[in-house]
Amino acid sequence: MNNLFSDRLKKLTPYTPGEQLNDKRYIKLNTNENPYPPSDKVLEAIKDKAGETLRLYPDPESKELLSVIAKKYSIDNDMVFVSNGSDETLAFAFNAFFSGKKVAFPRITYSFYPVYCKLYDAKEETPEMNYDYTINKEAVSKCKYPLIIANPNAPTGELLSNEYICSLLEKDKERLILVDEAYIDFANQPSMAEYVKKYKNLLVVRTFSKSYSLAGMRIGYAIGDKALIAALNTVKNCFNSYPLDRLAQISAVTALNNQEYYDMINNKVKATRDRVAKQLDKLGCTVLPSQSNFLFVKFGGYDSSTIYTKFKDEGILIRQWNYIPDYVRISIGTDSDMDSLINTAKEIMK
Ligand code: PMP
Repeated sequence: MNNLFSDRLKKLTPYTPGEQLNDKRYIKLNTNENPYPPSDKVLEAIKDKAGETLRLYPDPESKELLSVIAKKYSIDNDMVFVSNGSDETLAFAFNAFFSGKKVAFPRITYSFYPVYCKLYDAKEETPEMNYDYTINKEAVSKCKYPLIIANPNAPTGELLSNEYICSLLEKDKERLILVDEAYIDFANQPSMAEYVKKYKNLLVVRTFSKSYSLAGMRIGYAIGDKALIAALNTVKNCFNSYPLDRLAQISAVTALNNQEYYDMINNKVKATRDRVAKQLDKLGCTVLPSQSNFLFVKFGGYDSSTIYTKFKDEGILIRQWNYIPDYVRISIGTDSDMDSLINTAKEIMK
């Protein structure tokens, strides 16, 4: 039986996504989804498109979406790449840029990066973190390999300044730096997108899953120099010609044309985050400063798996990793979701 499988498969360790449980109603604070719905206009556009034309393949290049994204950042369409979630962009980036090479990322970051390393035979270099899970800039700065930075970082929520990232880009213009900005719309700092014309070695990866409330639609994108984008397209066209279906394309276009609504809901998420961080801090928890839509929290005296179980027993799902024994990650929900979380936290910390 073992002979049926490739040597590569035998080496793989798949990514474990956050649970999507249906056994009872949970307050779901485990996968950083936006607690607010997509805008009404997006929902109407989806209903409008969900008709007879679904029998036809979608535009393989998602041209309308490319144009709207390009316009948002004042760049050309050939500097934009779209994909089925930003995980797919990341996978294609590993294939196009890191396969067979070394690639660096901080030791505690998005846990899909090491999975892609194995899938694409990239060798991971993981500069150490500081004892408090902040990024050790000295260790990162020393590193000479192509680099991936989730900014804000996940699961810690830490934001590095764009100036610092530019300083890394400046150091070696032949070294690719991929900045994964899944959570940047919750930060008090603009995207690195404005630097893609200046730095040909910068690839910015973004998603509609979080700040555009479209995790269920699976839409991600990258922006960068046209040579980088052409490379991603080469991989994409060896893999799947139609990564974005018709409904995904129209929902992303409509979402970008309704920016005001998204600014409004994301400001609400940020305000709730700051309030809850203060409340948890008052209860005696250690909360890392977060510029994202989640908090990285230590409930002193308890290990992370005990905390996870205590919240789950109360119907609240949060995220825990065995390799992080002391902290858990809590996504920001509605104010009422977070009031329930605080009530349970009070019981735990009594
Ligand atoms: N990057 C980071 C840092 C993430 O946390 C996530 C969400 N799990 C992703 C990328 C992928 O998001 P999506 O595929 O939904 O666009």
